[in-house]
Amino acid sequence: MARRSWAEPYKIKMVELIKMSSPEDRLQAIREAGYNTFLLKSEDVYIDLLTDSGVGAMSDRQWSGLMMGDEAYAGSRNFYHLRDTVEQYYSYKYTVPTHQGRGAENIISQLLISDGDYVPGNMYFTTTRLHQELAGGTFVDVVIDEAHDPSSEHPFKGNVDFDKLDALVEKVGAEKIPYICIATCVNMAGGQPISMANLKQLRTWCDKHGIMLVHDMTRVAENAYFIQQREEGYQDASVQQIVYELCSLTDAATMSSKKDAMVNIGGFLAMNDPKFYERACELVVVYEGLHTYGGMAGRDMEALAIGITESVDDQHIRARVGQVEYLGEKLKSAGVPIVNPIGGHAVFLNARKILPHIPQERFPAQALSAALYLESGVRSMERGVVSAGRNKDTGENYMPKLELVRLTIPRRVYTQAHMDVTAESVIDVMERADQIKGLRFTYEPEVLRFFQARFELVT
Ligand SMILES: *Cc1c(COP(=O)(O)O)cnc(C)c1O
Repeated sequence: MARRSWAEPYKIKMVELIKMSSPEDRLQAIREAGYNTFLLKSEDVYIDLLTDSGVGAMSDRQWSGLMMGDEAYAGSRNFYHLRDTVEQYYSYKYTVPTHQGRGAENIISQLLISDGDYVPGNMYFTTTRLHQELAGGTFVDVVIDEAHDPSSEHPFKGNVDFDKLDALVEKVGAEKIPYICIATCVNMAGGQPISMANLKQLRTWCDKHGIMLVHDMTRVAENAYFIQQREEGYQDASVQQIVYELCSLTDAATMSSKKDAMVNIGGFLAMNDPKFYERACELVVVYEGLHTYGGMAGRDMEALAIGITESVDDQHIRARVGQVEYLGEKLKSAGVPIVNPIGGHAVFLNARKILPHIPQERFPAQALSAALYLESGVRSMERGVVSAGRNKDTGENYMPKLELVRLTIPRRVYTQAHMDVTAESVIDVMERADQIKGLRFTYEPEVLRFFQARFELVT
């Protein structure tokens, strides 16, 4: 039987109109934004591929769930629905709602990390690492080397390198490692999965050393889909089953439900240990709210519970990742250099290769991102030297190996035609790449400079 192409397992009931601006409008908008796509007004954007966080489209069932909100201060029925859904789909017995993922990261970091501890992870994530550092810990990257190489076709670039883990234990001792934080479908590696075999091996390793295993499960469904597609023995398992198995191998989880679970805001901390739950309930009151709502409205917990069930549906995830792959393949076949393999939530353009005439200190990825907006109104994000920042001691720019522009696809929002237009715009920009100029700062914030920096063209 011929393999059918992917298609969306939904149809459109309501639409949001977007503006198709003129080149003159866009020139003015990008100048006013200081050539930084974070400073553009959303109204001036045609296709918004800045992020996949909190920008997904909820289903009619989720919207109906909003009407079922029980806004009681304590013991909302939506909390119990959410808790039961987390246990049914993700295996964790206890759930503490938070306002978003970083709320959960704050609580777990404060509860488990002491001054001088080390927290290994399969690549850092910005907010995760920051909370570990604020709690007195030091992040240690234990992802395999292939994760840092855009040309490597390794199918599981999110895997842990056990030599790196062993070396850390050798150096600091297991008692200095409160837990290991493992992300499924690693964001900073470009949406690359960890294999079930690697996670199972890690479970054994953690048991041997008496170290807790914490799961950053923000994109667990996308990871499960890649396991189904790529890992021996999982072809006949459903994404729902694989998600459950992944979660079962870990002790606790932090979740940003703005990604996989398709709500606009929310998150949670989940675990199996009743003592740990008790302590988390004590701390969540300080930072978020009572343990039966944390940082969420009742209606939002209801929409989240429903979103979780939709996120693990095989047809949904096939279409979600299929759309990202569709865009990636289209660019690849036109000769656009991108990061391989294509990730679960985004396509990354290799700006160094597209703009070889712009040296890294003139911010090629930032310039490419601005040029793409100017061309077509497509908003993307820089992931290169601007995002990397400066070394605090020397004041020099970090010069990362990867100088990338990220095209991040929101869930259930854009059509295949939008992906076509995006690809055509990138190809047009690439064809006149030699006319694109580099940038220099006119304003450079001290921390997380990529959000608010402003630039001008270098003539
Ligand atoms: C987005 C994200 C977070 C943080 O979640 P927020 O909801 O943005 O606070 C943590 N980890 C990963 C991998 C993420 O992608």
